[in-house]
Amino acid sequence: MIKSKILFILFFSWVYVANIFAMTILIDPGHGGEEDGATREINGVLIKEKDLTLSISQLIYEKLQKKHRVFLTRSLDRTVTLQERAQIAEKIKADLFISVHINSSTDPRAKGIETFYLDNHDDIAVKKVEKTENINPGTADGIQQILIDLAVEQTVQTSKPLAFLVHAETKKNLKGKLAMVNRGVKPALFYVLALSKRPGILLEAGFMTNDDDLKKIQQPKFQSLYADAVVRGIDQYIRTKKRAK
Ligand SMILES: [Zn+2]
Repeated sequence: MIKSKILFILFFSWVYVANIFAMTILIDPGHGGEEDGATREINGVLIKEKDLTLSISQLIYEKLQKKHRVFLTRSLDRTVTLQERAQIAEKIKADLFISVHINSSTDPRAKGIETFYLDNHDDIAVKKVEKTENINPGTADGIQQILIDLAVEQTVQTSKPLAFLVHAETKKNLKGKLAMVNRGVKPALFYVLALSKRPGILLEAGFMTNDDDLKKIQQPKFQSLYADAVVRGIDQYIRTKKRAK
């Protein structure tokens, strides 16, 4: 009798502890619908960034669901403005916002994985990435610097360590034939992160414009390992938070 009572208490304390650290996480597949994102035609087949971001996001969504409340800004090929993505983050009160993209460049040699968090910077190369990712279907572009500064202030202390932890896991997880060039963790002004005002990161899982990268990104094995790494990075972040309490 006492034994079962102890087991009962242990079980419920486990549920209680597990729930404290369960988070509400919004996964954001970049682009969609009328906005293809970066595209690449290979042997007459048009490969679109919006399809690759959706399949990677769906994997992250499935893997995170075991421990957290998880949502997607889109689960289909549909147009979603950056403001609408931010509204979803607000509505579900997301603790973390994870935006998934595939990079592109005018230089076909550019390759590798990068992880971004919201912060001001002077990096000209990053400004080019912002230009393509800040395109907003159907609405006037632009967001006031004052709003960006406020969002940076509210999020950078969470977003920066989260970006480093997730990036370290992606670097570690993609090995051998699936290894990617490491372009590092960088600050950037992505409107979707600024508008959501939630701690978050924007992932660039390689380059559409580089043959080696694209071949890897298209493989289910790559997508699954990449998604695993993102989940592990988030877990690590939660563990460091737990230790700090
Ligand atoms: Zn993109």
